[in-house]
Amino acid sequence: MSKNFKIHKDDTVQVIAGKDKGKRGTVVRVLTKKDAVIVSGINIVKKAMKRRSQQDQGGIADVEAPLNISNVALICKKCGPTRAGYKIDGDKKIRVCRKCGEAL
Ligand SMILES: [Zn+2]
Repeated sequence: MSKNFKIHKDDTVQVIAGKDKGKRGTVVRVLTKKDAVIVSGINIVKKAMKRRSQQDQGGIADVEAPLNISNVALICKKCGPTRAGYKIDGDKKIRVCRKCGEAL
């Protein structure tokens, strides 16, 4: 297991570094091997699309580029962007805010 993969698909995260700092979005993909995540509407880059058929005009599309996992943070209801930790509750592992202990 990678050290930092406390962020999962469908989590809401806040960008804490880079050009989209402060923005929030939903994780659409976790790229474990690259230590990166793709977040809906964040880190948009223009990508040239090739023409694939006579009808296809090709052109420029907006795509979401991966963000390094260290540049995003989970959001705690109380603390805002935070680091996540784990707490064992019986036989369950719960993801919690490291600052206040609230379940994330
Ligand atoms: Zn908290």
